[in-house]
Amino acid sequence: MNKHKNRNILDVLIATKLSQNTTDKTAFIAYNNLKNNFNNWEELIVAPIEKIKKLIKPCGLTETKSRDIKLMLKQMKDDFGNLNLNHLKKYSNEKVYEELLKYKGIGVKTVSCVLAFALNRNVFPVDTHVHRVMNRIGVVNTKTAEETFEAAKRIIPDEEKVFLHKAIIKFGRNVCKAVKPMCGECILYEECGFSQKEQFHREHREGMEKHREEQRKKEKIKRIKKDTKMTSKKENNFIILENI
Ligand code: SF4
Repeated sequence: MNKHKNRNILDVLIATKLSQNTTDKTAFIAYNNLKNNFNNWEELIVAPIEKIKKLIKPCGLTETKSRDIKLMLKQMKDDFGNLNLNHLKKYSNEKVYEELLKYKGIGVKTVSCVLAFALNRNVFPVDTHVHRVMNRIGVVNTKTAEETFEAAKRIIPDEEKVFLHKAIIKFGRNVCKAVKPMCGECILYEECGFSQKEQFHREHREGMEKHREEQRKKEKIKRIKKDTKMTSKKENNFIILENI
């Protein structure tokens, strides 16, 4: 079992839903906007859709996300009489998937996040970063995030699943980026199976060298400014155009 604080299950579900196809930072702003404008999630069921869309605007896909969340909350209220999802704590992972996947717009990754971060279960949620990194490194050879999720179940020890999920997400955002992976600085370079790693390694090194060269030039300009200031009082300073 992984060690997390006790988070509210529905909070985690809604935050994960908001984070679909956007960054965690913008999803967090949208989530806080909802929390600060409604006293509880029940209020959102009867709130005008336009109000919800406005509040979650920072995280994009406002039409789909606001309608899916509103509908999901309404269905939950109808099903359970309230919006308390604590009964999920007693369910097996499989039963939690079964229970939550029936809501529109809730996929395997979202339920996996609920299991990992709200129910403290040892699961390995696979998002776009995790799927990309795992394939580039060569740990899996899969076409979709769902396939990566299934393959990872077999090769990652239970007690390392949540830790690795978080570590790979950070690595994918900061080093093994989607568009320009920083292969030139990557500690996994030797082991990595990515076919374009040499090209990105070269481009990264060249980019770094260019950057350093620009920095050196800027430093020179700074020094020239400083030196000319120091000598300006005692040298021949007359410039005709300053006096026309
Ligand atoms: S070498 Fe490049 S592609 Fe491979 S893991 Fe590192 S950053 Fe990613």
